[in-house]
Amino acid sequence: PYYAKHFDVCTLPFLLNDITASTNPIKVFEYMALGKPIVTTALNECKKYESINIANNYDEFIELVDKMLKNNDKNYYKKLKTEANENTWSKKANTIVNTLIDYEKTASFLSIDDVIEEILLKIYIQNYNTNIKELVRKNISKKQKTFIVTINSETCIYSKEDEIYRNMVLDKKVLLVPDSISITYVMKKAFKEKIDRYPGIDLLVDILTDLNKKKKSLYLYGSTEKVNNGMVKYVNDNFPNIRVVGHKNGYQEDETIVENEIIKLKPDAIVVALGIPKQEIFINKIYQKLDKGIMIGVGGSFDVLSGNVKRAPILMRKINLEWLYRILKDPKRFNKFYNKNIKFVFSKKRGIKEWVQ
Ligand code: UDP
Repeated sequence: PYYAKHFDVCTLPFLLNDITASTNPIKVFEYMALGKPIVTTALNECKKYESINIANNYDEFIELVDKMLKNNDKNYYKKLKTEANENTWSKKANTIVNTLIDYEKTASFLSIDDVIEEILLKIYIQNYNTNIKELVRKNISKKQKTFIVTINSETCIYSKEDEIYRNMVLDKKVLLVPDSISITYVMKKAFKEKIDRYPGIDLLVDILTDLNKKKKSLYLYGSTEKVNNGMVKYVNDNFPNIRVVGHKNGYQEDETIVENEIIKLKPDAIVVALGIPKQEIFINKIYQKLDKGIMIGVGGSFDVLSGNVKRAPILMRKINLEWLYRILKDPKRFNKFYNKNIKFVFSKKRGIKEWVQ
């Protein structure tokens, strides 16, 4: 109000571009409340209000400012006041709260935890319009340092329980990929959009295919000595152009030896199979010390690719029953499955009303 004493017309002379097209210039509501005539360029949001004068070009803008300087039309000032009252901060906030409450009603059969929702939202944003396979391919060519975490119910539950791990998963530098059916199922219910599952093991094979095409180098860390050697053989047999510059089993007494070796060798890709959360914690440590490399934790993938553990038949994978196959083959996994997956899908979320307040 103090500055308002010094002018008679309020203007928003924004250039029109992709950014301003989606901008909601809330200043205009303050201008309305001041009771001063408003002239703007043709911003989408401004077109919604009668009291805002829209100029479609430079000359019109000047003309409208001139006109508004001389404007004595009482009805115009009445309109300004009405629209100011219709757009107060509390009315805007109520609209948002009501939208969220409506959203909660439609999604009420599914209640997900806030932390998990944040992770899923990140996956959704990163994967919705991006072909991850292409992105990783490009990053291999550009030698762009890339930290990938494959997200399943276990990573979600772990993130919920461990703040350091959670912050790492949610860090901007980390690319999240939906590894399991529980993730894509919950995402479909929560966001009403289908995001395709991209199992870590398939992503690993795609990465190896790209590394092979570009004749790149690879470091393999993790699993038992037998499985690790089997994995090296698998890569050499199937991807002959990849140089496996180093490999170590995942049961080292002194992990810094592996760390230093990787830093010295600077491989184009570092694949780590230590299980969750060890593999991500390890990658996070070496990430800061490297300036290139695709880095990914792949859980039990070495066991499968080396031929030591069988993967579910293709038909079962296609109908999303890989998890059932794993339990049937190894009933000990049921406890882990129950604790991670069932708890994950049905974990409790605070009501939207509650956190808005
Ligand atoms: N692993 C390892 N070092 C460890 C713990 C696990 O190398 O200290 C390996 C293990 O041999 C297996 C892989 O990590 O090859 C994945 O382990 P797990 O089955 O626990 O993980 P999941 O596949 O369930 O994520």
